[in-house]
Amino acid sequence: MSKYIDGAYSTLKEYVPGEQPKDKKYIKLNTNESPYPPSPAVISAVDSAEVSDLRLYSDPESSKVKKAIAEVYGVEDKNVFVSNGSDEILNFAFMVYGKINGAVFPEITYGFYKVFCDLYGIEKTMIPLEEDFTIDKNKFINTGKFTVIANPNAPTGIELGLDVIEEIIKSNKDNVVLIDEAYVDFGGTSCYELTKKYDNLIVCRTFSKSYSLAGARLGYCFANEELIKDLEKIKYSTNPYNINRLTQIAGTAAMNENSYYMANCKKICDTRKFVTKALREIGFEVLDSKANFIFAKHESISGMDIYTLLRENGILVRHFTDEKIKDYNRITIGSEEEMKTFVDTMKKIVKGA
Ligand code: PMP
Repeated sequence: MSKYIDGAYSTLKEYVPGEQPKDKKYIKLNTNESPYPPSPAVISAVDSAEVSDLRLYSDPESSKVKKAIAEVYGVEDKNVFVSNGSDEILNFAFMVYGKINGAVFPEITYGFYKVFCDLYGIEKTMIPLEEDFTIDKNKFINTGKFTVIANPNAPTGIELGLDVIEEIIKSNKDNVVLIDEAYVDFGGTSCYELTKKYDNLIVCRTFSKSYSLAGARLGYCFANEELIKDLEKIKYSTNPYNINRLTQIAGTAAMNENSYYMANCKKICDTRKFVTKALREIGFEVLDSKANFIFAKHESISGMDIYTLLRENGILVRHFTDEKIKDYNRITIGSEEEMKTFVDTMKKIVKGA
């Protein structure tokens, strides 16, 4: 840090993204990207004409992509906000709703929530998960604070039912509830329809996982018009052209080919089932996941050892050092072929241990 930076940032622990290695080619199962390419329509939509138009600013309203999302989900454009990755929605939401009475979220969840709290000086309440990594809904009823739940949760992959989510939203009428559905397309149940019924709900999504566009940086959320206006206000106060031209084109084409992506999600769910079963057969405890990753621990090999041995064998997974989850690894579900290699490698590691 330079000597010029505001001292308030000296203790800030920034978010550490998963590794994007450059040294050699790995089977990359560490950042929950899709193993499948964007659809052919996306590839042809981002053509050379668009590239030469990069001299022009992008549409600050991102109207085409917003309209495509609204059509697919049967909502009005005014109930959709689009962002530079869903991290940007989270950023804006913590910024404007967190400071009032603080924020509450599970202790084990997406690591960025904590960072936003520390960045903005928001008082944070982190609710421990139960022994089996589930969320006790009673601890999220009537919180009186900005309430954030990833559903399915990360890195556990465990989902809370729609009825429970509605109970939480209903009991928190005086504060905003944000449900982060980054992983909902992999077999989860979305609560976005509830945004038509409750004016305190934001349902946040991303093109990064199920729409194979992590590198394009595109997120979106559904909410009541007034909440969307709050987010627009912050966007126009920070970065009006938050979505670049190529990403707007890619996102619109992707949304218009929804069925291609939902078929890929189905393939990933099938592969998840096969990998879960195979790992359980060789001594792993694998949580029941509704996401494009699984969270697994072996009965006798440490989480760190598994991470290191996989890496030596050209496979990257995500290991977190926090005491409560250090025995586990988060393993992204890749293509069927990649996951067969992963399972074979894991079998060899377990045999050799
Ligand atoms: N929410 C959760 C739970 C995530 O795991 C991620 C991915 N790191 C995000 C949001 C942000 O995704 P993106 O900014 O790529 O849309």
